[in-house]
Amino acid sequence: MVAEIIDGKAISEQIRAELVSEVKRLTEKGFRPGLAVVLVGENPASQVYVGKKEQSCEELGLYSECYRLTDKTPEEELLTLIDTLNKKEEIDGILVQLPLPKHINEEKVLLRIDPDKDVDGFHPVNVGRMCIGNPRFLPCTPSGVQELLVRTGHNPDGKHVVVLGRSNIVGKPVANILLQKAKGANATVTICHSATKNIAEITKQADVLVAAIGKPKFVTADMVKPGAVVIDVGVNRIEDKSTKSGTRLVGDVDFEAVKNVASAITPVPGGVGPMTIAMLMKNTVKSAQIRAGELKI
Ligand code: NAP
Repeated sequence: MVAEIIDGKAISEQIRAELVSEVKRLTEKGFRPGLAVVLVGENPASQVYVGKKEQSCEELGLYSECYRLTDKTPEEELLTLIDTLNKKEEIDGILVQLPLPKHINEEKVLLRIDPDKDVDGFHPVNVGRMCIGNPRFLPCTPSGVQELLVRTGHNPDGKHVVVLGRSNIVGKPVANILLQKAKGANATVTICHSATKNIAEITKQADVLVAAIGKPKFVTADMVKPGAVVIDVGVNRIEDKSTKSGTRLVGDVDFEAVKNVASAITPVPGGVGPMTIAMLMKNTVKSAQIRAGELKI
């Protein structure tokens, strides 16, 4: 059996196309969705991500403001900027690109963002709302995983989902979203981490296996139940002398081997990755719908 390759790029484009008409409608009504992106320092990966977010806003018709601050920016200055953005009517979402320089306390910064504008879904208020099953903004990569499953007809309802990894950014929220008594969720969820014994015995029981540990090709074919759906969140750069740059990206799953066992699998790149920005745009549009009084959450 060769698995269906889940095309995250195509699915994210479908979501973006849906958002274009919604942004147009809201704009005509006087509630153009607006996103503020704040970048501190010159981390090259962060610069690429911020550029992509700006570009996405432009393509979808959102209003956007981008603040590029030097890595010497005092914490207080960043907090003051967040206070200003919290008060700005035209800004529905605020995203502070992580990681921040070492002299800035990340938690303090994330706590300062108004939970009503926290389109990244990392504020404890939004994490709490997700946990109790009354979400406002779900974190983008984890909700992208759910969206991929649902839109490809692999509804997790009643399935055994095994999540590898328990970070606050991916593992825990993926598990939390999929275990909720809700549409597109309702799964039996097991979480594995670095202290889990006999991981392969657990992963082999998964109907849906989500890998988010940051270890290249960790999941091998013998760890996967025949016919399972495999979602690879990992993004790892490995050496590859055959490429121009000398490196290439791989996931946490040994794609070439696992695709012969799974019934469906996401590639890296082109699987979960493109979903993150699409879900960020979706959250920002949702925030504008709330501002317009169309949604009560
Ligand atoms: P992280 O914060 O480093 O967390 C890794 C998790 O994996 C931890 O819970 C860790 O366990 C667990 N782990 C590490 N080694 C393990 C092992 N050998 N066996 C079992 N569990 C193990 O990473 P993250 O931020 O969640 O990111 C995970 C991966 O997803 C990375 O490759 C990252 O680049 C990628 N990612 C992709 C996107 C995207 O596509 N848009 C977004 C975010 C992240 P402990 O808790 O016990 O340490």
